[in-house]
Amino acid sequence: MRIILLGPPGSGKGTQAQLLVQRYGIVQLSTGEMLRAAVAAGTPVGLKAKEIMASGGLVPDDVVVGIISDRIDQPDARNGFILDGFPRTVPQAEALDELLKHKHLKLDAVIELRVNESALLSRVETRVAQMRERGEEVRLDDTPEVLTKRLASYRSQTEPLIHYYSERRKLSTIDGMMAIDEVTRAIHRQLLALGAVEPKTHGKTHGKTRARSAVKAAPAKTAKKSAKKPAKTAEKAAKSRKAAKKAVTGAKKAAKKTIKKTVKKAGKKKAAKKTAKKAVKKGAKKAAKKVTKRRAKR
Ligand code: AMP
Repeated sequence: MRIILLGPPGSGKGTQAQLLVQRYGIVQLSTGEMLRAAVAAGTPVGLKAKEIMASGGLVPDDVVVGIISDRIDQPDARNGFILDGFPRTVPQAEALDELLKHKHLKLDAVIELRVNESALLSRVETRVAQMRERGEEVRLDDTPEVLTKRLASYRSQTEPLIHYYSERRKLSTIDGMMAIDEVTRAIHRQLLALGAVEPKTHGKTHGKTRARSAVKAAPAKTAKKSAKKPAKTAEKAAKSRKAAKKAVTGAKKAAKKTIKKTVKKAGKKKAAKKTAKKAVKKGAKKAAKKVTKRRAKR
């Protein structure tokens, strides 16, 4: 499955991408994360991007397109990926279409997380506070001033993608103001409706793939939450296993019944055929007798 998460800074793309990674066993490809890693490593791309990112501008299209193209070719992306923060401009979207076509890959959906702009600043402030709490380095561009600039660039350069993908019948819009798990459920429902995922992936987690992916560790809060629920999760899993077993047994029983009925019917048909044959034979014998009698009389 290959999907794009679209939304302004603070709309929850990163959070949802991480949850989708766990559920579907695909990788999150975040250009922001990759660029931050390049800046930290001091690579030529990082040196180019550093100032632009700090000021809230957009890194040149060819740079991010190159990064994404290389990343899609990695073995861990073969199973599918979520693009988070890419594409951000129409030329990037066109370049993505081109490179997917070239690689014979299909884009399943573009999920737009729609949020009230007024909520974005407080969301980013919460994110900064949580990162500080966890002792993580705070992003240089997570300040009210830079956020205003990032929002302006979202409106002018990224929002046109809503029209771009809607025209291509790829766009699904989700209310990003709902609680995190409600948004995840809404995305899952949408992906199910589009046939991008199979029903069995509901509630499934892919620990191994997640560990292999380039995604950062889950936030402490999420980790705590899931630690609180192991008993409930185990109970749920046992229940669904029971239900699955019941369904299989039911299906087997139904199949047996159908087979029995069919055999019975076939048997009846055979008997009917036999009777018919007998009747035909009897009729023929009778007719022959009649003819013999008539001839004898003559
Ligand atoms: P993000 O983590 O997605 O908010 O991205 C952080 C910053 O990285 C952005 O403000 C841009 O400066 C840069 N960036 C990330 N993705 C892209 C992209 N697709 N095109 C251009 N610049 C990007």
